[in-house]
Amino acid sequence: MFGEEYDVIVVGGGHAGAEAAAAAANMGSKTLLVTMNLQTIGQMSCNPAMGGIAKGQIVREIDALGGYSGIITDKSAIQFKMLNKSKGPAMWSPRSQNDRMRFAEEWRLALERTTNVDFYQEMVSGLLVDGNKITGVRTSLGIEIKAKAVVLTNGTFLNGLIHIGEKQFGGGRAGEKAATGITEQLTDLGFDSGRMKTGTPPRVDGRSLDYSKMIVQPGDEHPEKFSYSDTKVLTRQRDCYMTHTSTLVHDLLREGFDRSPMFNGRIKSIGPRYCPSIEDKINRFTDKDSHQMFIEPEGWDTVEVYVNGFSTSLPEDVQFKALRSVVGFENVKFFRPGYAIEYDYFPPTQLKHTLETKLVDNLYFAGQINGTTGYEEAASQGLMAAINAHLKINEKEPFILKRDEAYIGVLIDDLITKGTEEPYRMFTSRAEYRTLLRQDNADLRLTPKAHAIGLADENRMRSMEKKLQKSNAFVNFFKKTSVLPKDINPILKSVDSSIIKQSDKMFKVFSRPKVTMDHMLQLDVVSSYVNEHKLNREVLEQTEVQVKYSGYIAKEKANADKLHRLEAVKIPNNFDYSKLKSLSFEAREKLNAIRPVTISQASRISGVTPSDVSVLLVYLGR
Ligand code: FAD
Repeated sequence: MFGEEYDVIVVGGGHAGAEAAAAAANMGSKTLLVTMNLQTIGQMSCNPAMGGIAKGQIVREIDALGGYSGIITDKSAIQFKMLNKSKGPAMWSPRSQNDRMRFAEEWRLALERTTNVDFYQEMVSGLLVDGNKITGVRTSLGIEIKAKAVVLTNGTFLNGLIHIGEKQFGGGRAGEKAATGITEQLTDLGFDSGRMKTGTPPRVDGRSLDYSKMIVQPGDEHPEKFSYSDTKVLTRQRDCYMTHTSTLVHDLLREGFDRSPMFNGRIKSIGPRYCPSIEDKINRFTDKDSHQMFIEPEGWDTVEVYVNGFSTSLPEDVQFKALRSVVGFENVKFFRPGYAIEYDYFPPTQLKHTLETKLVDNLYFAGQINGTTGYEEAASQGLMAAINAHLKINEKEPFILKRDEAYIGVLIDDLITKGTEEPYRMFTSRAEYRTLLRQDNADLRLTPKAHAIGLADENRMRSMEKKLQKSNAFVNFFKKTSVLPKDINPILKSVDSSIIKQSDKMFKVFSRPKVTMDHMLQLDVVSSYVNEHKLNREVLEQTEVQVKYSGYIAKEKANADKLHRLEAVKIPNNFDYSKLKSLSFEAREKLNAIRPVTISQASRISGVTPSDVSVLLVYLGR
């Protein structure tokens, strides 16, 4: 059946696996996607939403690199919001609600339309390893398939154990079986593994809810989109709703605490800190009488509804009784109860920056298997692992994004340098250079790089160049053109900004904090320029950021350049830290274990102090 050797085998068709298969194939690798169920490719295991703070930037970066997540998100979106619009542009983050079924369907279609991708539905239960090099995979039916590189993206499936109250059973997700064999073999090969947990809320019948008692949460009046390509913006949207828990709901939930796997010791592993279960919230924040709940439709046509904020693994009867006491949920009917799941992961310090494992050549890990949580984090790792797998088997230089180039760079550097003991999700605060890493400029930052390695196509490159050229010209227009007091003063007065007494350059007035592009567009000369040059929303947004934040951007660029100097001091792979007695004991231990490739990476390892870095600089500077 599989006489031929593949270039890349991707194991798992979740968010990481789907992006990995697409990237490897689009770069020219003969790719096989082996997944346990071909109907669940691109399945959203938890909430039907993409993006959000920092995660939205990641989706834009994936898109700019030539990945599919942004396109699939746009095609299946049912509501769009640009979060943090009242803050600076570094914080603007796109988020969408999505049609769960359509999202998965679009992923499957996109992959079927990608040349070079073959599909096979089976569980991979073992890896073929020759010496310290991967040579393929073995399925649970004993079929061996050869490949030059393998990307593992098993998500929450490795020895997955589902908990609902006192019941527990094997499974990778509700209704799907767990994957076995891989953890055991990898630990035999010398890998460390650990356990993590995550949870999901009940899904309910929207027809049984009384929305008139809840607060409506509409999408943006002028929705935007994720992809820089020609996907469409939404012309209609579905509303979400908000309601709250109460002390009565909390009391009812507490009645089940003695049967909760979270509290009776059955669940031992650590869950995502920032997505706590409702029982965890009640237990931790005892002074709070109420918690927010967001009621999110699961799609355009389905009546199924996702109850965001009510993740739980309490017994079904307790979940049901408590939910019926929530305002608007008095007659709720369940589609499925909430549950928690424990699964194996592999501490990501065992990986290189390329996501290749340090122990087995040409074997790559991406997604939840690396201890992350979230579709966006998973998808971006899948993309990067596959790019690097393709480059390595073609004997090309690795593709690594630096911390000042992309959130994806921050994510991977954090994972492999610091590791993670709890599910890792991205936040803007994890990035030192967030003014540089904005959602509006992901294409300017990354498309040229992706084009150079053969992933982003000509169309993407050309539209990025056009946007850059148009926004630069528009910035110059503001620098060169003056505005008269009689034209601008009414606008300045309307925003409580001091008026001008004589004509001034538009750039200067536009740079003022309260003056926006919308204000400038009220000037005839500006709106004529926009119409004449057919400038779209992306160009207007980019120009506004360049005018208003150029000072901050230049400062951050200068700081990033300083970091690059440390980045240039490489540490030989076999460097023996034990002989540097002036390093602290902890630093020696950590450096020997993680083996950073540059002094800059060494400086980010927790436990390595500035004085340790000075010692390394003195020694390696020689
Ligand atoms: P997955 O999406 O899990 O996909 C793994 C894929 O690999 C599946 O298609 C599976 O069939 C396949 N597979 C696994 N093993 C094998 C094998 N041996 N052979 C062949 N195929 C295999 N994220 C959040 O950000 N917030 C949350 O609140 C949240 N809650 C969650 C709750 C639950 C119950 C679950 C299950 C997940 C939750 N997540 C949450 C996590 C989110 O779903 C994941 O981060 C994301 O789906 C990870 O993507 P992935 O591609 O790594 O893995």
